[in-house]
Amino acid sequence: MSFVTHVECTVCGHHHDARRPLTVCTRCGQMLAVRYDLARVKAAVDKAALRSRPGGMYRFRELTPLDEGEEPVTLGEGGTPLLPLTRLAAHLGLRHVWGKDEGANPTGSFKARGLGMAITRARTLGARGFVIPSAGNAGGAAAVYAARCGLPCAVIVPRGTPPAAVAEAAIAGAHVFTVEGSIATAGRIVAAVAPDLGWFDLSTLKEPYRLEGKKTMGLELAEQLDWTLPDVLLYPTGGGTGLVGIPKAFDELRQMGWVTGRTRFVAVQAEGCAPVVKAFHDGAETTAAWEDPTTHAAGLRVPSPFAGRQMLRILRDSGGDAIAVSERAIVEAQRRLARLEGIWTSPEGAALVAALAVMKDRGQVSADARIVVMLTGAGIKYAPPELPTPLDLAGSDDAVRAAVRRVVGT
Ligand SMILES: *Cc1c(COP(=O)(O)O)cnc(C)c1O
Ligand SMILES: [Zn+2]
Repeated sequence: MSFVTHVECTVCGHHHDARRPLTVCTRCGQMLAVRYDLARVKAAVDKAALRSRPGGMYRFRELTPLDEGEEPVTLGEGGTPLLPLTRLAAHLGLRHVWGKDEGANPTGSFKARGLGMAITRARTLGARGFVIPSAGNAGGAAAVYAARCGLPCAVIVPRGTPPAAVAEAAIAGAHVFTVEGSIATAGRIVAAVAPDLGWFDLSTLKEPYRLEGKKTMGLELAEQLDWTLPDVLLYPTGGGTGLVGIPKAFDELRQMGWVTGRTRFVAVQAEGCAPVVKAFHDGAETTAAWEDPTTHAAGLRVPSPFAGRQMLRILRDSGGDAIAVSERAIVEAQRRLARLEGIWTSPEGAALVAALAVMKDRGQVSADARIVVMLTGAGIKYAPPELPTPLDLAGSDDAVRAAVRRVVGT
């Protein structure tokens, strides 16, 4: 038996039986969330027991939806480093900034956590194949976990999706399709073809287990910060699984008495696609579809996130904020982070570095605030930014030595 009591609708509260395959609320169509018997979890595991377990997201087994004895479909996801960004912090006039380096996951992004968990559960509950709309990384992750358990997968991505993510899905044997438009267009096609194929629809937050995989980022963070919570957490927001999942982790740990305190959650989006930022500042209860979404941070190109309402509630309840940054600020921040810390993060993660500078300028964070940025993916999965072409060395030894000295400048 797992520690799950039931699966609950986040809007109407209707209870669903976790022993059946689940999608969205059968009563109102909204997003579902897994609930645990936290008193039983607390009795079954303590912080010391946890210390002796191997790394990776299944070390928090009691707070995952896995049944007793259920084997996860895994490639070793989770257990990513929380890196102190000392030089970046000094540059910004801050003292405590950490980056959670999710690029270290299999597939090079945190999508591995969510899709690993969702595919594990769906396979156990009888799925025969998977269909997913994606802006890139989710499709790649779905394809590799489907391959890992020998099930077929179809991935639908917008044209112009970063080629590495498309290749990742294709080399794992997935059927990859492109469409004109955004992930919203892809999502409509998936909704139409999934029942046709009889395959499980893995769309963001339209089944409850991907959230539980993303939640493990929050569990790890609390443990890595020695069972404290950060004051501020910046999250690059597309569909919002992490923005909903991380506070869920903190809430569960708080209810278990393992952590105290509160975190301000900050959603960061691109100026060319910022439905959450707009709704937050308009005081709206949910997001409105963003017309003509454009940004090179592919994971942020989500014009109508299904969990808009839930994200806005989290941002407001936590005293957080929502900030949009320009394409140029993203590119500059990506370079700054690489130069100052040696981390080539994805454009989505870089957006946080740009947003943190904005927050510091506006006086929204004090110098000694403890701040975490979620570096959700590896830069290497995206088309490289424009950088100087390497100088080609040719000619005599003397000419080569002189050329190197000229460039290096000593
Ligand atoms: C998908 C993705 C995001 C957005 O994540 P959500 O949890 O869907 O909001 C951010 N960064 C990267 C690298 C992604 O792949
Ligand atoms: Zn409901």
